[in-house]
Amino acid sequence: MSKLAKFAEEKGVKYFMISYTDLFGGQRAKLVPASAIADMEEDGAGFAGFATWFDMTPAHPDMLAVPDPDAVIQLPWKPEVAWVAADCIMEGEAVEQAPRNVLKKLIKEAADEGLRVKTGIEAEFFILTPEGDKISDPFDTAEKPCYDQQAVMRRYDVIAEICDYMLELGWGPYQNDHEDANGQFEMNWDFDDALITADRHSFFKFMVKSVAEKHGLRATFMPKPIQGLTGNGCHAHISVWDLDGETNAFAGKAAGQVGEVGLSEQGGYFLGGIMKHAEALAAITNPTVNSYKRINAPRTMSGATWAPNTVTWTGNNRTHMVRVPGPGRFELRLPDGAVNPYLLQAVIIAAGLSGIRSKADPGPRYDIDMYAEGHKIEGAPKLPLNMLDAIRAYDADPELKTMLGSDFSASYIKMKHQEWNSFVSHFSRWEKDNTLDI
Ligand code: ADP
Ligand code: MG
Ligand code: MG
Repeated sequence: MSKLAKFAEEKGVKYFMISYTDLFGGQRAKLVPASAIADMEEDGAGFAGFATWFDMTPAHPDMLAVPDPDAVIQLPWKPEVAWVAADCIMEGEAVEQAPRNVLKKLIKEAADEGLRVKTGIEAEFFILTPEGDKISDPFDTAEKPCYDQQAVMRRYDVIAEICDYMLELGWGPYQNDHEDANGQFEMNWDFDDALITADRHSFFKFMVKSVAEKHGLRATFMPKPIQGLTGNGCHAHISVWDLDGETNAFAGKAAGQVGEVGLSEQGGYFLGGIMKHAEALAAITNPTVNSYKRINAPRTMSGATWAPNTVTWTGNNRTHMVRVPGPGRFELRLPDGAVNPYLLQAVIIAAGLSGIRSKADPGPRYDIDMYAEGHKIEGAPKLPLNMLDAIRAYDADPELKTMLGSDFSASYIKMKHQEWNSFVSHFSRWEKDNTLDI
């Protein structure tokens, strides 16, 4: 009996949502009745690739999304439906540019070198009114709203419902808080293998939006939904283990500054790869026009953006691109809420492996407040100022492009250029305000 058919029988599932993620991070699904799931598990559900963000033409043959039975999640808020992550194939071959395939390829490359990457993410979000134009809680107006006890309790019904679901799903959630912007929240659960974290990240976004809608609200992961307020980050915490997952290869003490903060030599090289590829990597971790209003941003109302501007690393200090909060792992603070869950993990592994292979030096550690003293550092590369610069930096990084896949990279660059062109051909109020009387 097919694994998913058995799952349906045991759990009382009536419909499966066979879901894949396109290049722009959109989740696309077909609802398949349990009676048809056994065939779909074998052959996949058919989609027209051109109809989603995949760099295909209407003439392409059917793309088949084959559900991964190890990645099935019964919707806690609608138990008769189960979501299942799928892998895209076309004419018997994996679709190279499909984000979950990109990630699986890199996980395999890491495994071939005896490495197993484990990550945790912090996917911040805002809860807005259904129209998406205002913070939903009119009393959430404090200048420093982070950890606001009263405000988090006014959204208890939404936050606790989501946390209850994560408990039920066995994700190991351990804390929830009001974040640094009015209307902003964060929920944390345990780290795990990169593919599991990517699937959970996808499902988390779906779940947060669904539960918010249920309560008549709108949740958004948009990088900077409200001007002047702190944006939605999606920090990634990273460690690398041996294949059986028992020994943390990042734990240890390399010589010098890397070891002082509790990272091994290999951890230092992996970090070195992230630093080396940072400007190109931003094309993936900060994939939208709006992303660049979060990084390189002026100080927010709360006093700090909490987002980086420069390619620098440090110990337990939140003003740099990379923070080493404690021994055996580091935190990449660059990614934002628009990041594609699969490409985020994939690009981290690609840059990290490149660092290990080339024994990349992460450069000096700066233990300064970057927001106050960043101008004193000479020579540290600045992060791209906009999406176009990031895409160009990615295009100029042959190693990263090859590691993520030549077809994937070509498609991604092409589609992101199209998106940029669409943005710049849009007439804005700003132009009129600044050019009318010229
Ligand atoms: P902070 O706000 O201080 O950055 P959080 O507690 O909000 O930290 O999030 C930390 C994330 O890092 C969680 O997802 C946690 O599971 C994850 N994490 C903790 N230890 C490791 C590790 N060794 N490897 C990867 N991720 C880790
Ligand atoms: Mg956090
Ligand atoms: Mg963090």
